Amino acid sequence: MEKILRVNMTDLTVKDEPFPDEWKFLGGRGLSAKILLKEVDPKCDPLGPGNKVILAPGVLSGSIAPTSGRMSVGAKSPLTGGIKEANSGGQAGQKLARLGYRALVVEGKAKDPAKRYLLVINKDGTALRERSDLKGLRTYAASEKLAGEFSGRAAFVLCGPAGELGLSGASVAFTDEGKRHPARHAARGGLGAALGVKGLKAVAVDDEGTQARLPKDMATFKSYVAKISKEYKAGAQLFQFGTSTTVPLANMMSTFPTRNRHEMQFEAADALDGAKLVANFATRGGGMHHCMTGCIVQCSNIINNAEGQYVTSALEFETIALCGSNCAIGDLDKVAQMDRLCDELGLDTIETGGAIGLAMDCGALSFGDADAAIALLDKVDKGDELAETVGRGVVAIGKRFKATRIPAIRGQGIPAWEPRTLNATGVTYASSAMGADHTAGLIVMPVADMAKASQESQLINALCDSSGFCQFQQPTIDDIRTLYNALYGANLSFEDCADLGWQCMVDEWEFNRRAGFGPEDNDLPEWMRTEAIPSNGAVFAAPKEEIMRVFERMPVSDDLRQMKAVG
Ligand code: SF4
Repeated sequence: MEKILRVNMTDLTVKDEPFPDEWKFLGGRGLSAKILLKEVDPKCDPLGPGNKVILAPGVLSGSIAPTSGRMSVGAKSPLTGGIKEANSGGQAGQKLARLGYRALVVEGKAKDPAKRYLLVINKDGTALRERSDLKGLRTYAASEKLAGEFSGRAAFVLCGPAGELGLSGASVAFTDEGKRHPARHAARGGLGAALGVKGLKAVAVDDEGTQARLPKDMATFKSYVAKISKEYKAGAQLFQFGTSTTVPLANMMSTFPTRNRHEMQFEAADALDGAKLVANFATRGGGMHHCMTGCIVQCSNIINNAEGQYVTSALEFETIALCGSNCAIGDLDKVAQMDRLCDELGLDTIETGGAIGLAMDCGALSFGDADAAIALLDKVDKGDELAETVGRGVVAIGKRFKATRIPAIRGQGIPAWEPRTLNATGVTYASSAMGADHTAGLIVMPVADMAKASQESQLINALCDSSGFCQFQQPTIDDIRTLYNALYGANLSFEDCADLGWQCMVDEWEFNRRAGFGPEDNDLPEWMRTEAIPSNGAVFAAPKEEIMRVFERMPVSDDLRQMKAVG
């Protein structure tokens, strides 16, 4: 029987509930949106007991479908004040699904703010234990401590100190495959703060004694899994060396933020090219791996220092851009240290790099001063006021220094993919309930109809984020439809499946409407319409009517039928 696990942190109770059959095609992001819309007052304090944090594996998670064990984290965002979902690899999603749970709903807030709790989930049941000894521990220390107490099959979900402090740039950490490094993060939107303030420091999920979920139509499921795995291996494998190797392309396209986005090309871009990380594997060790069992993409790099010691995983394009070029830091080893510190503290590297870049622009530290940036980050959990403000994100830094040119949309720092260069991606940032989040619908190539391209990209990504697939697997709607039908013995059409993605967007927009957002919020900051990028002269020029067209459902097009999810 499929279940929901509900944890109430106010009265410290844990209970199983049956998962409604009519929700069986809802998972991950779509399920999180449905529960939040039904159960959470959109006007609630995101750090108060009324907010709920939903951890939901995808519809396909726990099955043998490749690269499909992502876990969504959803809540009212402490950063944006609207609904937010961020999903992560790591091992917990697969395991929670194999234990029969479609969602973990964390509600309430511990009465004693000094106490911390650990939730244990295994085949024998669930238990909520007081573990105040974990309070304030950075994520690697917490994972190491828990690893000594559980079987090698257990995976951990962790709040870092930033989440415990309620800092609105906080992420939720997931331990990865292999050494259980807490290196995978549901990073965006400050969801780590929503969880951390509740007092739930960690979740241990142990699937010992369970097996993969069995599809109703095993033969079809297996043969389709074999087909898409074979096709993926025979294809371009765009992410086989990770996203870090995107640096030269992004720099060439003027979408590589530099010095708080005053420029979009970095003179030291060569030094930040992820190809250098790949070349270093031969002398330093490390290499490519998969962050979760069943991933056939293996885009995650393991980064060692010059002495061959592990530093971090994975060092992604977005981190290199925001913590590197955006701060005029042209040194991958320094950026790797910043990435590790963000993972230790439980901070979003995009938000944090954006905040440090803005602090540099405001004169709090110098552009290019990597050691000062690292020292500042290291003080986030040591009571330092400026460091804590960095942990609260771009807008908090902007307010502190009374900046007028703040690179944020609806409270959230802008990712590397630049809306002035990529206007259609800007339409996504302006219209998606996820705000400035490239994973909501990234459009890199020029398009004739920006609203249509953005709507379709958002729709397929919403469906992908609900399925459990990693966007780097790049499934089509037909891939997802075929596997859903085989899993449940159902007969969903292409249109039915597209409707699932659309409904997720509608639920998210409705939550934000009830939270008080209106059409006036669906835009980019004014300076992005007037300040041209020096290298290409681009501004954000999408008319407001173009943005508003995204909210009207368009007919299913041939483009959508061919389209693949992309992150
Ligand atoms: S493709 Fe990359 S991010 Fe996605 S699950 Fe695999 S290793 Fe993790």
